[in-house]
Amino acid sequence: MQQENTHERNKELVADWQALMRTFICPDNDVSQSRLVKYMQQILFGLQDFLKKHVGITEETSLKDLVKAYSDSHINENPEKKLTDVITDLIEDVAPHAVNVASPYFVGHMTSAIPFFMVHLKTIVAALNQNVVKLETSKVFSVVERQVLAKIHRLIYRKSDDFYIRHIQSTDTALGCFTEDGTLANITALWVARNAALAPKNGFDGVESEGIPAAFQAYGMERAVILVSRLGHFSLKKAGGLLGIGNRNVLAVDVDHNNRIDLKCLNKTIREINKTEGKTRIIAIIGIAGTTETGSIDPLRQLGEICAEHGVHYHVDAVWGGPTVLSDKYKHLLKGIELADSVTIDGHKQFYMPMSCGMVYFKDPKIMDTVIYHANYVNRPGSVDLGIKSLAGSREANSIILDCALKIMGRRGYALLLEHGIETAREFAREIQQRPDFELITPPELNILTYRLFPSHLKKKLSGKDPARIPHIRERLNEINRRVQILQRERGKSFVSRTTLKMDGRPGEDIVVLRCVIMNPMTSMKILREVLDEQEEIYRNFFGEFAFLPENRGYESSF
Ligand SMILES: *Cc1c(COP(=O)(O)O)cnc(C)c1O
Repeated sequence: MQQENTHERNKELVADWQALMRTFICPDNDVSQSRLVKYMQQILFGLQDFLKKHVGITEETSLKDLVKAYSDSHINENPEKKLTDVITDLIEDVAPHAVNVASPYFVGHMTSAIPFFMVHLKTIVAALNQNVVKLETSKVFSVVERQVLAKIHRLIYRKSDDFYIRHIQSTDTALGCFTEDGTLANITALWVARNAALAPKNGFDGVESEGIPAAFQAYGMERAVILVSRLGHFSLKKAGGLLGIGNRNVLAVDVDHNNRIDLKCLNKTIREINKTEGKTRIIAIIGIAGTTETGSIDPLRQLGEICAEHGVHYHVDAVWGGPTVLSDKYKHLLKGIELADSVTIDGHKQFYMPMSCGMVYFKDPKIMDTVIYHANYVNRPGSVDLGIKSLAGSREANSIILDCALKIMGRRGYALLLEHGIETAREFAREIQQRPDFELITPPELNILTYRLFPSHLKKKLSGKDPARIPHIRERLNEINRRVQILQRERGKSFVSRTTLKMDGRPGEDIVVLRCVIMNPMTSMKILREVLDEQEEIYRNFFGEFAFLPENRGYESSF
């Protein structure tokens, strides 16, 4: 059957020169043009409609079946399909098995609905296909990128008009850089921090050129470390590995009961490091403005003061929470961010841009000189080429999307989105606290909160007088929350995520929690109540007093 079909199609579709040329020349007659417009319509509206009608969060097809359906490693000699058929296939056969991240019931991750105009803007980026690695393939887009960087830099650092006039288009300085994502933004920030800490000095050419062993020798040291709370994102560990510091030397500092870095612990760690008399050096201390798991914000001001006192590079990972500076109502939550030597923010998170876009900003417009690279055929010294100071080589002109989005939304538009998230999360927290079978674990500082099912009869048991039973009850609670999250995901209507937290005041206890990220403006309290109702119902069906609890944990690997 499959064979026959391919054969049939091969008869009409042939990869010859004429067919090939057609794919490079945009059709200029009315008939073909209107067909192309139809395809775009199909993408813009057909896809949305289809998703609305046919999928909740995701279709029920198991990953196993999908893997089977995608196990062909052959490429056809001749064309298999025309554009129209390919688009139809994508809409009808592929999209339904994707995840409908735009659903207001999808509240588990940092990926969500985006304004519809983002698709238009992304299309323009693809259609122009600029490469901002160098001016010769991007021209105005390299200049636009610098302007957007200055706009966001200004929101963070609030420097003078003079400062921005001086640096916005200066070829000698850089206020930051667009990257592919938050991970590469963090890596860039720490790359710069490492090179600034292990800079050239009397006879030593700097770590970037001579490598770690020579740098350690020149600085009389044995170990470089980075300090961050234990809620730090794993991209920071990757940076430790890539930069030759070693990911084990990205040291996790304990957090307090609000999941903020514990300053007493941090100061103790610094004191211990200082006792090594330079043998161990701190490359950077990191504050997190919105931890991935709980959305908590470290004490940014105090961290800045500690870094200044010890002369250490201060990095703020604001990949999640950064855009909060757009809200006059909540920007105080990020007070102290302006002390940071570097700040990272994701475009594809709370700037609601399509995948994928990250950014890194620097307080000192000269500090990116530590990562300058030149190549003779592009990127000559003193040019506007953005590739001189970016980890990436070829890069899309994503900055134009943010530039246009800021124009379309205005600061206030973004602020409304962020405020909706924060305020809905707070109301959701109150709802959770009012329900007897739930427990709020981390109240939201921004728009992320964690909680768990904690049936009231187990609450009574746990407060009872039989300490021998406690570990058993805790394990059962974890089991309940693991199961409920998986079963809810499999039902396909709503999605919350799940993580494991170590809690201050509950030493040694790993708590499985449900995690909600409220960023879709369509996510209302009514929807969130339904999410909780469904969790209660799943619990009653599967775990009610007499329900059977299977020992088999094989289901864990089903996703
Ligand atoms: C998401 C996130 C990152 C990583 O960003 P990606 O865009 O996924 O690479 C880093 N830090 C924090 C705090 C994040 O939430």
